[in-house]
Amino acid sequence: MPLTEVGALVVDGREVPVSHVPAAGESVTVRPVARPQKVPGAPLRFLLDVHLGTLARRLRLLGVDTAYESTDIGDPALAARSAAEQRVMLSRDRGLLRRRELWAGAFVYSTRPEEQLRDVLDRFRPELRPWTRCTACNGVLRKATKEEVADQLKHGTHATYDVFAQCTACGRAYWRGAHHEQLEAIVERAVALCSERR
Ligand SMILES: [Zn+2]
Repeated sequence: MPLTEVGALVVDGREVPVSHVPAAGESVTVRPVARPQKVPGAPLRFLLDVHLGTLARRLRLLGVDTAYESTDIGDPALAARSAAEQRVMLSRDRGLLRRRELWAGAFVYSTRPEEQLRDVLDRFRPELRPWTRCTACNGVLRKATKEEVADQLKHGTHATYDVFAQCTACGRAYWRGAHHEQLEAIVERAVALCSERR
């Protein structure tokens, strides 16, 4: 089990530090990480490995600061980026999550994006700001006029829509087009989950 998944260690009803060396006959109970998990020291932001592209886009859709490596840069480089940018590393790779350089990390249990998203939201309860980030590059969106994004619009889009946003980093244009209802449903479920009391 990676250390990222270990909450309190309890010996004979008393909590001990992670460095505790069990004595003979002693039994150690490993509690899961407390939820919501607080990651001290920096605003909550994430780094996802190459296998979690869908989860990365969904977190960005919700306005959560999410870096994502679309190529396999290797465990040392990922761990170094997590440390340098103070990002919580999300991965299904237990070896990666054992690396000491990580700022923080969490094991993603499910292979299904819906369950992955629910688990990450439930675990960290990040502040949600839907529709404020570019799902392609994690850049921040700003409002844009039709003229500003005209070169990216197909003819039908130009006629049908009036509200646009544009990524301040990569320039990509956004509007309520095809798939919007599906995205809206993802946002609604996430907002509902994060506003549940626990
Ligand atoms: Zn962008």
